[in-house]
Amino acid sequence: MLNRKIAARKRIALVAHDNKKKELIEWAVYNKAALAKHRLYATGTTGKMLEDALDTPISRFLSGPMGGDQQIGAQIAEGKIDVLIFFWDPMEAQPHDPDIKALLRLGVVWNIPFACDRATADFLLTSPLMYQEYEVIVPDYNAYLTRYQK
Ligand code: PGA
Repeated sequence: MLNRKIAARKRIALVAHDNKKKELIEWAVYNKAALAKHRLYATGTTGKMLEDALDTPISRFLSGPMGGDQQIGAQIAEGKIDVLIFFWDPMEAQPHDPDIKALLRLGVVWNIPFACDRATADFLLTSPLMYQEYEVIVPDYNAYLTRYQK
């Protein structure tokens, strides 16, 4: 097992599909004080809306369908995003469905905490672990990585 320490101040990525943006913004405004203890990242449009609603700077990636989901996935793989809040739309197909799937997959590959609905996001944000150092246990992929080595 390979552990990775994440700081008390988490790097949180926020993403919401169009039909879920209102809900995410409402949730973020309600939790503004808690979110202020962390560093926020978001896909392009979600980030712009959050910036306006929270009146706080957000590090923005490209818009999701333009590659923003993949950018966040890459940051997760590199250990640069600690938590993902991803309100994806269960009622409408998205043009960037493969990217969404890839992002959700990487969240599990790297065992990061992530929430895809508001209730889970509430549970996550109110966890004491959000406000202290935490050691993420990264699954052991060594057997996979060395499968061609003798
Ligand atoms: P957006 O991207 O924040 O730029 O709208 C979200 C998404 O659809 O992945």
